[in-house]
Amino acid sequence: MSTDLASGLADRKRFRCGGCGNVTRFDVEVVERTRRFVHADLSGAAAVEREEVLAREVVEVVCHWCATGEHVAVEDAPGAVTATEG
Ligand SMILES: [Zn+2]
Repeated sequence: MSTDLASGLADRKRFRCGGCGNVTRFDVEVVERTRRFVHADLSGAAAVEREEVLAREVVEVVCHWCATGEHVAVEDAPGAVTATEG
């Protein structure tokens, strides 16, 4: 998977399926290394209260409707502000 598709998870970016026009529903397979702040109660039941992603590898981005990632690309999200604007 190219690093280009990984950028689709960034703010102001989105995925688009060129096959069907979908921009909202994708099955994204990722491998992540994270650091979590885990808060447990005295019984041992734990909840993750904060999580920091230290590394992320996008393995595959598949259009949920076409069931293929063949036509998936990354584009600017509507309203995204580029460095040349404002
Ligand atoms: Zn599609």
